[in-house]
Amino acid sequence: MKDRYGRTIEYMRISITDRCNLRCRYCMPDGIETVDMKEILTYEEIVKITEEAAKSGIRHIKITGGEPLVRKGCTELIRKLKNVEGIETVTMTTNGILLKQYLGELQKSGIDGINVSLDTTNPKLYREITGSDAMSDVLDAIVEASKTSIPVKVNAVLFDLHGDGQTNAASYLKLLRLAEDYPVDVRFIEGMPIGRGKAFPTISSEEVFAEVQKAYPSVSQDTRLHGYGPAKYYTIDGFRGSIGFISAIHGKFCDSCNRIRLSAVGFVKPCLCYGEGYDLKDVVRNHPSQIQTVLQKAIYEKPKEHCFEKEEQISENGNMISIGG
Ligand code: SAM
Ligand code: SF4
Repeated sequence: MKDRYGRTIEYMRISITDRCNLRCRYCMPDGIETVDMKEILTYEEIVKITEEAAKSGIRHIKITGGEPLVRKGCTELIRKLKNVEGIETVTMTTNGILLKQYLGELQKSGIDGINVSLDTTNPKLYREITGSDAMSDVLDAIVEASKTSIPVKVNAVLFDLHGDGQTNAASYLKLLRLAEDYPVDVRFIEGMPIGRGKAFPTISSEEVFAEVQKAYPSVSQDTRLHGYGPAKYYTIDGFRGSIGFISAIHGKFCDSCNRIRLSAVGFVKPCLCYGEGYDLKDVVRNHPSQIQTVLQKAIYEKPKEHCFEKEEQISENGNMISIGG
């Protein structure tokens, strides 16, 4: 359906857990508490909400978390969501740690795409960002997934973690080798001042793009459809995958925003930037006939735009781990 500004809202990100097997500094460093499992929507509740959302025009679902693959039965949920009438695509974003293990099941589930979050191919920096030494498992999983028919994207968040504007920036270009060697798209996402992300400035995607242009003068715009999100894509001669930029901060795309978010505890968020939203958990548990009314209200009342550039106006005080990115 359309919101009050005429935007068609057809994409819903669903966080299925607030647990994670990594501790990314800008998302879930040690010490962030998780909620009791009974507060988390059950898979039946998620399917029920998706069925109602589809009746209101939601067509594309992204499963997120926390880390979705740490929740048992995630691939079975994907299969069920694929069968919901009206839903056209179901994709997932994962940190890739368990991806190799679940790749076969994901293929069977009918998943339409997998985004793997990987900010660097430098093992030392990876450890510093995530607290883990498992980077090579993630790289292996990306290579294995790229051999399947599932479209694979690698997402790197642009945060200036050292405040020197350099350390991460230098490693971003190296990530492009994945798009050179394998049929995977590599995308750069500006960091957002939400939760622990507030502690780090983002690096502008324009800056990274300028570096890409210097290193690869053949870079040119790619107008093919790569998904249903706001990324701008480019191709580079000789590369098997494309590269993309999601510039929420320096290239505001609110005019074409098409999404709502459902958190792990069943809170529907019309916009990432604001704390406002609706508690669907109580509705799905106690008043299921009202799910659609609440969803439609959330869609209709979606704010015109985010306010990330004016940090004092950001009213979202939660963490990305529970919102789902
Ligand atoms: N664990 C999964 C993963 O890492 O892909 C799914 C959940 S994670 C919250 C989803 C995405 O949000 C990841 O790509 C992560 O890098 C990104 N993210 C986390 N905190 C962020 C922030 N403050 N700004 C921008 N992206 C952020
Ligand atoms: Fe976990 Fe993803 Fe957050 Fe990293 S970004 S802590 S992998 S949920």
